[in-house]
Amino acid sequence: MADIIKLLPDHVANQIAAGEVVQRPASVVKELLENAIDAGAATIKLIIKDSGKTLIQVIDDGKGMSPTDARLSFERHATSKIKNAEDLFALHTKGFRGEALASIAAVAHVDLKTRQQGEDVGSCIEIEGSIIKSQDIVATPAGTSIAVKNLFFNIPARRNFLKSDSVEMRHIIDEFHRVALAHEQITFVMYHNEGELFNLPQSNKRQRIVNVFGSKTNEKLVPVEEETGIVKIKGFIIKPEFAKKTKGEQYFFVNDRFIKHSYLHHAVASAFDGLLPDRARASYFLYLEVDPQTIDINIHPTKTEVKFEDEHSIYTLLRAAVKHSLGQFNIAPVLDFDREPGLDTPYAYKHRQAETPQVEVDRDFNPFKENNTGRISVSSRVHYEKKSAAGWENLYAGLDNHGGRADDSFSRVEIESEDPAGGMFDEGGASAEANCYQLHNKFLVGTIKSGMVIIDQNKAHQRILYEDLLKNITVKESVSQQLLFPLRFDFSKKEIHLLLQLKETLENTGFIFDAVDDDTLEITGLPMGMGENESHRVLEQLLADVEREVPGAGFSQVDLLARSMAGSMAIRNGEKLDAASCEYLLNKLFACKEPMLSPFNRPTFVTISVEELERKFETR
Ligand code: ADP
Ligand code: MG
Repeated sequence: MADIIKLLPDHVANQIAAGEVVQRPASVVKELLENAIDAGAATIKLIIKDSGKTLIQVIDDGKGMSPTDARLSFERHATSKIKNAEDLFALHTKGFRGEALASIAAVAHVDLKTRQQGEDVGSCIEIEGSIIKSQDIVATPAGTSIAVKNLFFNIPARRNFLKSDSVEMRHIIDEFHRVALAHEQITFVMYHNEGELFNLPQSNKRQRIVNVFGSKTNEKLVPVEEETGIVKIKGFIIKPEFAKKTKGEQYFFVNDRFIKHSYLHHAVASAFDGLLPDRARASYFLYLEVDPQTIDINIHPTKTEVKFEDEHSIYTLLRAAVKHSLGQFNIAPVLDFDREPGLDTPYAYKHRQAETPQVEVDRDFNPFKENNTGRISVSSRVHYEKKSAAGWENLYAGLDNHGGRADDSFSRVEIESEDPAGGMFDEGGASAEANCYQLHNKFLVGTIKSGMVIIDQNKAHQRILYEDLLKNITVKESVSQQLLFPLRFDFSKKEIHLLLQLKETLENTGFIFDAVDDDTLEITGLPMGMGENESHRVLEQLLADVEREVPGAGFSQVDLLARSMAGSMAIRNGEKLDAASCEYLLNKLFACKEPMLSPFNRPTFVTISVEELERKFETR
């Protein structure tokens, strides 16, 4: 019988190999970014069009390739990174399998331009489905640019199986984050369809995390550090009070490589035992450093699974390190002074005047107290702003003063605090508590010059939110928290229609959304301070209020929206507030235009004068 075994032609072999390495646009992103890092780039640009389906381009300023290397780089098992099997155990590069470029070129149109540092000209190569179309000499910047177009053009089945643009884009952003978080010393810029999505300047680890996940992340981070003979652990965990019900952020890096490791994840998760609210997940960014000889990265083509020689010890050390940090955090709330001015300014703030930074402290938080599921939502919603209370007195013209003094033509309410801005966080923190107490998780009691003020926390917060919202809607300058993972909610057709009518106004509150189809709403941005889990309830209430309201009944629609949202977003009675939050509410309320009344015309506070109190104690 004739022989039947044949060697597969290269382009077929490459296509098969590509199936393992290139699963989706995000895989290409990962491989190209890693090559740029291995080439020693200081700045890496990632350009994406149509979620990678049309174009994925990576431009680096690394060492570039010679014309011969440029040609060879597309051969399978062509690598400059290892020479023999032993090198596998001393890896200092991301790549080493020499199959990424060959695989990518097998399933896409690839344009490579590269010039070595110090050379006058570089080379460019065009490849389509493993076939070289052209190779030339070109003038090009030092470094390498690889453009991958029309991914899977020759494998329609694969192309058809790609997910929606938003899903593929999410995978791309995930890969980008993983690489960027591991290499804070490199500047990364990412564009999608001409728009700049991320601009991450060279920085330290903490700043990189903050730049990726937003300025609010900074205050949530607690450092972890541990150095032993087998592993060096560095990084951050997110304070338990900020843990997310959804997946959260879990990042392990080993020798600057993102890995997935369920066993080590368990180590961290178990350190958080008892500290997290129901079903919430621990979030962390942990960077492990081990001797390359003690790990095997070679077990998976995408290199995200790693085998450690001494997994058990690493488990124990990791768990202890995280527990230790949680414990330290309990003793000393971590206020971060690491922060650079101008570090993470959201774009929308670009033209605004600088404001004093926000400080958020939960003095009562004790990670080792059982049942500490406490007031997470409140502390994330209410920030204490270090704002001067100067000008208060003026706001009080016209207020009824029970203990009116003769020399005052009008009454005043003054907070009995010399310097609320400066004195708040004095050692011991006593002054913060001294200004304002919470009573029955419902009322805030503060001292004023003429006596005391008792504030209804719910109604006060309604007033504050209402005025903020009104201002945002009319000034059209709201700030929205961009959601990395859009939220999708089902509504009836009618409700969707109504929401779309309100779209413009709502956008000014920070709500950014669109209808995906006639009964699904996709939310990509939320008003500042609104939790993701709150958003659905707020919208439902809004729809109910809008439907109930008789048109033209004296209130404008803008007013209606602001009232409805203020009503559903405000802190409820029964919610415990920490001292800083009380203080914030108090200050903010009395900075309102109409502090006395809630948007629903209920009093927000009452005052009792010293005289009134004295009268109550008078002897008969
Ligand atoms: P590997 O990274 O595993 O070596 P690749 O197929 O990703 O395999 O790349 C093949 C080779 O091409 C690399 O070893 C490297 O020498 C070269 N190369 C790829 N990308 C770049 C780049 N951006 N800059 C310089 N050289 C590169
Ligand atoms: Mg590579």
